[in-house]
Amino acid sequence: MQGDLKVEAAELRNAIAAGQIIVYYQPKVGLFTGQALGVEALVRWQHPKRGLVFPDDFIPAAERSGVMTELTDFVLDQAAGQYAQWQANGIDLPVAVNLSASSLVNAALPDKITAVCNRHGISHRGLALEITETSVMADSKAAVAVLAALAERGFVMAIDDFGTGFSSLAYLAKLPVSVVKIDKSFVLDVVDNDADAHIVHGIIELVHGLGKHVVAEGVESQEALDLLLLMGCDQGQGYHWSRPVPAAELTAWVTKHQHVITVAGHETGMFTRAPIPANEAKRLAVLQRYRILDTACEAIFDEIAAVAAKVCGTPMSAVSLVDAERQWFKARVGLKVAETTRDLAFCAHTIMDPTHLLVVNDATTDERFAANPLVTGDPNIRFYAGASLVAPDGSAVGTLCVIDSKPRRLSVAQLKVLRQLAAHVIAIFEAKQQLAELAQGRATPGQRELCLAS
Ligand code: C2E
Ligand code: CA
Ligand code: CA
Repeated sequence: MQGDLKVEAAELRNAIAAGQIIVYYQPKVGLFTGQALGVEALVRWQHPKRGLVFPDDFIPAAERSGVMTELTDFVLDQAAGQYAQWQANGIDLPVAVNLSASSLVNAALPDKITAVCNRHGISHRGLALEITETSVMADSKAAVAVLAALAERGFVMAIDDFGTGFSSLAYLAKLPVSVVKIDKSFVLDVVDNDADAHIVHGIIELVHGLGKHVVAEGVESQEALDLLLLMGCDQGQGYHWSRPVPAAELTAWVTKHQHVITVAGHETGMFTRAPIPANEAKRLAVLQRYRILDTACEAIFDEIAAVAAKVCGTPMSAVSLVDAERQWFKARVGLKVAETTRDLAFCAHTIMDPTHLLVVNDATTDERFAANPLVTGDPNIRFYAGASLVAPDGSAVGTLCVIDSKPRRLSVAQLKVLRQLAAHVIAIFEAKQQLAELAQGRATPGQRELCLAS
């Protein structure tokens, strides 16, 4: 540890010019799939005399000496260039860049970041931005205006180091950020420290309740990962997967660990992230209780999917379960893949409103889906209709859906059948769960009678 270095502006400027400032990348990983969903750009100084200097040792000096803007510009440029390069190699890894308080109050920031994207020919979803709650609070009015402008342009923004500031929680609902990163100080010891575990669990519920995604920083062990999964956390970042490393090493890591291949065409336009239902934590708990994810095919569900496709006259159908990171197909007709990421899933939109069916007559004219790789590429979805699988407590765990590569319309009678079949699917999930509990001797006497009678 070197501590806050007393360096002058000129020395830092020279370091940037001399190529001594380098950007390392650390993956953000989907907890269920282990898939890298993005990376964070973390700056280092390869100092000729001091060796590798960490940001905590020179960023304060950069702030004091007024070089922070140049440093941020440099990192944004590197990050955008790296994203473009990965993209060209079929790797889809949005890069998150840390913004300091001084950048956030600059009204020209949205134009500047847009210009960086244009220069590198990348869409706005290629650059994500991380801001700390304290930096927003420093000049909240100006910061919120800049954030709103960035959100409007489609940049994904995250609140960093969440839990360490002293600001009120009310601001969290108002800020146009879609991701919250739990500070690593709560996560490092989450397995052994009960207070930390309660804090982390509480933050996850709070953040999901506000409809945002949550990332845990500082995940160092399998035990921490397991616990975070149980708590319903979406993503993690930490030494358990990878330290921050140079771009080439990160590419090697991703190539080795990426088991869901990215789909070509991801870059064709604005492509939004999956929406998160307000009751997400409860919904995921219900889904877990069914113990249905990643189980083998079962004839009963294959039959229901086949009947749905036949009644609706579509070549494709599925019983799709939406978990934190993906949709996984318990049954599928005419679909090649066993799962997709959640962001690609039409079903992730269906479950937002469990009482209604989602019907997309022509996906190419629907701005939520027009740029979706499943629309622009194989299986070229044009038509989609999905009925939520609604558990008795009202949570939608997935859908029964029918799909076509041609635009079309369904009759009211066909939609009714789809809804009825979806009700059958959930009834079978419930029955199977009750039987399993009975087998384990955990059922109440009432449940036992019910099971025996049926
Ligand atoms: P941060 O944004 O909270 O970044 C995460 C820090 O946690 C990184 O430290 C990373 O190496 C570290 N980390 C990641 N996983 C683990 C883990 O499992 N265990 C432990 N103990 N640590 C982990 P790093 O790279 O030293 O960066 C420190 C801080 O410097 C960053 O904290 C960020 O606030 C700042 N920073 C880095 N690059 C930039 C930049 O380009 N611009 C700005 N404004 N700030 C930057
Ligand atoms: Ca960060
Ligand atoms: Ca952080």
